[in-house]
Order: sequence, then structure tokens, then C-alpha cells
Amino acid sequence: MEHSRRRRATSLEERAQHRAAVEAQIIRGLHAANKTHGFDETHDPKKPITHFFQETHEGLVLFVIFFTQACRWMRCVGCTLPSTSALRHIDFGDIMDQTHSIFTEPDVLARADEIQKVIVSNQGSVLDEETFPTSALIHFVAKCNKHLPNMRVLTLESRPEYVDDIELDILARALEEGKTLTTLEIAVGVEVFDNDIRNLVFGKGLRLKTLDELVERLAKHGFRLKCYFMFKPVADAHMSREQAIQDIHEAIRYLSDLTDRIPGSIISIHLNPTYAARGTPLETAFLERKYTPPHLIDVVRAVRFGEDRGVPIFIGMNDEDLAVEGGSFIRPGDEALLPILNKFNKTQDYTLFKHLPG
Ligand code: SF4
Repeated sequence: MEHSRRRRATSLEERAQHRAAVEAQIIRGLHAANKTHGFDETHDPKKPITHFFQETHEGLVLFVIFFTQACRWMRCVGCTLPSTSALRHIDFGDIMDQTHSIFTEPDVLARADEIQKVIVSNQGSVLDEETFPTSALIHFVAKCNKHLPNMRVLTLESRPEYVDDIELDILARALEEGKTLTTLEIAVGVEVFDNDIRNLVFGKGLRLKTLDELVERLAKHGFRLKCYFMFKPVADAHMSREQAIQDIHEAIRYLSDLTDRIPGSIISIHLNPTYAARGTPLETAFLERKYTPPHLIDVVRAVRFGEDRGVPIFIGMNDEDLAVEGGSFIRPGDEALLPILNKFNKTQDYTLFKHLPG
């Protein structure tokens, strides 16, 4: 895996060489996954990609997506998120300006007292110091402390290999300075539970053992883990409708057992139905009729298994405008389901599914 920590550059020339090597690493990953998308080199580096709000069972969530250098892993075949990032390095000063811009947004200021949770993404790994400098991350935490008096959870999206104990300690100390007690949650993309599909087909490069070890480390600090899963993220030949449902059932069972096994562990699931994203092999498969996006009712069938298993589930319903035409998981006729799923996200009330088929 190409994720080793950076040897400190001792000259500007060495730093330039290092940055060129990181760009080459990103391009290698793109080609290895047969992805054809480009990167966004025109975005204003002083502005984040976007921010939005989510209503969840944990209260109002502010979701912030920073504009940084793209994910260094890049190899996940169905993922086109890095197409909204830059190929070049984005300076820590620019990222600090993005933070400043978030905390001048009228909607953020107006709802600041209501925000209970903040999720930080950069379409990759926020804890990868190559793409998201630690100083910029600490600056963001300080601004959250200052502006969000009721923030109870700070969630950072990252691949597990970038989660190191020193950084966790520094973040924990910074969070202690806020006006309310804030816990840290690390959000990791697992995507598929089946080992072979996850690593050999999807290209995730993640072993369950790594996840187990991360849960143990987080539990020792009193921190939480959120696992992102994608619902049916590979072509029909690799995963049928029924197998997609079973895959999430297995994931729920495994994570529920893990919380029983590791004292102090707190785990939740964020389940994203997959869409055929532009510039990925899934777009090609969709156009060749070899990939059928998941049906929302199957998502319900998958989620129902979570009842009484101690693992809260949030269903993502945003295709981030990256789906090809007709390639989304929301179809005409799904209108009645959407408010039910939104309400479930807010309440975790399984009786909402009582009258649905399944
Ligand atoms: S799923 Fe995550 S790790 Fe994989 S390419 Fe996308 S951003 Fe990178």
C-alpha cells in the first residue's frame, strides 16, 4: 500500500520532488482502477467544495467537504469523489481560508447553536497529512470550538492507515477546549463486507483485521467508529440484488458482534446506495446494461436487519450530482419511500418499515 508517512523534506527542492511524487501516485491509482475522470483545477482553493446540513437521530449535523489534493489511494473502482478535488497540493493557508469561509456562511452562523455534530470530509482522508495538513485540521477544530457551543461529535473521514495515536491525542486535547464535551468519531469507508468483492473487485485495499484493530484503538481513547458501506457497488455479475441485501446483513452482524467483543466500542453504519458515477467502470457497465443501480426498497430490506443490534444506521440519499443520467438509485415511483427513509434517519424507528414489503 502506498501510504507511508512523509520523510521530512530538508530543502525546497526536495519538497517539490516529493509533491511531484504524490501527484504521480494519484495518477497511478487512477489508471490502476481504469478510471478516466479528471480533477478540478479551476475551483477557488480558498473555498470548500460544499457544506450542507443533515437531520439525524444525533441532532443537526453540519457536513463540510474541503477542497484539497485528491485521495492518494484512488483505486476504488466505483468512486469518483476525487474528481472534485485537485491533483496538485493545496496549501495549508488556503485550507485555513476555507475554514474561515465556512464560519462566515450565513446559514452556518444562523444554526450554529443547533449544530450537534460536524462531519469533515475532503473526498478522501482528512487524516492524511499529505492532502490535509495537520495544522489546518487543528485550526478547523479550534474554529468549531469557538463557533459551535453544542458540538457533541466531530467526525473525520479517513482511511484507517492514516489514523495515528499522536494525532488522535492532539485532536482529543484540542476538543477538550470546546464549550461542551465533544467526542471524536473516525469514519472509514468499508464499502463492501464480502472480502473478495471489497478488495479484488472494488479495489478497496482494506482487511477486516485492520478494522478490528482500529476499533480497539479508538475504544481505548473513548472514540467512535462509523463505517461507510455502499449498497451494490459492483456490476450485476459480481453482486445480484439478493447478494447486495445479504452483504449488508453480514456487515451489521459483524459490527454488532464487534461491539459486544470490544469493551467500550461504539460503532455506527452509514449506508450509501450506489449510483453509476461518471468516469468510472460502473458508468461503462451501466451503459452496457451490465449494472443495475440498487432499488430503494432493497435498501430497506437490508437495513431492517439492524433492529435491536446496537448499531445505528444512517441511509445516505445524495448522489452528489455525480450520477450519469438514469444511473441514480432514486427512480420515478420512489417518492413515498423518501420521507420514510428521512424519518428513519432522524429516529432509528424500525416500525416505520412495518407496512413496507420485505
Ligand atoms: S472510496 Fe475513499 S479511498 Fe477509495 S478512491 Fe474513493 S475517496 Fe479514495
